[in-house]
Amino acid sequence: MDPKGKVVVVTGGAGGIGLETARHFVDAGAKVAIMDIDPAALEMAVADLGGEVLGVACNVSDEASVEAAFDEVVSHYGQLDVAVLNAGILRDGLLIKVDRETGKVRGKMSLSQWQSVIDVNLTGVFLTGREAAIRMVNTGCKGVLVLISSIAKRGNIGQTNYSAAKAGVETLAVVWGKELARAGIRVASVSPGFIATPMVIRDMKPEMLDRFRKMIPVGRLGKPEEIAHTIRFVVENDLICATDIEPSGGLKL
Ligand code: NAP
Repeated sequence: MDPKGKVVVVTGGAGGIGLETARHFVDAGAKVAIMDIDPAALEMAVADLGGEVLGVACNVSDEASVEAAFDEVVSHYGQLDVAVLNAGILRDGLLIKVDRETGKVRGKMSLSQWQSVIDVNLTGVFLTGREAAIRMVNTGCKGVLVLISSIAKRGNIGQTNYSAAKAGVETLAVVWGKELARAGIRVASVSPGFIATPMVIRDMKPEMLDRFRKMIPVGRLGKPEEIAHTIRFVVENDLICATDIEPSGGLKL
């Protein structure tokens, strides 16, 4: 699909990979809507992107909020061609922490730490993907869903919650790719490696980030625009469906 003139939604579009992806599609001549949880960040991102970008406040883990947000996009633009399901959070921690001196457990991943990541990173993709697909079918658009997973899907120490969610996201892309093909909708996932965004620079422990940086074969973190480029490739290539692409600089975890 040529994105020129098409309607593209990016969730988590106010920052990081989402913002660069929105910029990429604006530059490609698409009509873009960004959804994000923080209205102030959304306003800044819309001003930064310029043009006629629509900013829609949305909590991807809240069903009513997601339904209303996609309704707003369709009532504004009249159609929906591409949805990039990118919103995500990190709440890292070990399953249990064992005290080296006593040999006893002194901490654990809390249920809220688990649940918050599952709610945004997995349920959020389920809700936004479902609502996007409904509107693509009802407006007669043969669209594309691009789901953002992560190489952490293989299981990363300190990321019980995040790895489980991202493995689920990759699986959703396969199931939906098969189910929605009959409606003319393609679905695929993109699993980035470590990318220099606020999620990594602000939210990851510096010692952990340093350890990973040394393990990346190309010797550097990825740039958000490199992920945006991969997402655009998925949109443009009509043969990509029910599969995953890993722009990770060779890091497998
Ligand atoms: P980011 O810079 O933190 O951007 C994520 C955006 O999503 C933020 O604007 C965030 O708002 C928003 N968001 C959070 N919770 C939301 C919710 N409930 N509803 C709507 N929006 C919400 O992160 P990023 O690094 O660009 O990551 C984007 C995606 O790529 C995520 O799915 C992430 O898991 C994935 N990924 C990133 C990397 C990486 O190295 N950066 C690697 C692999 C995969 P707040 O800032 O207000 O929370």
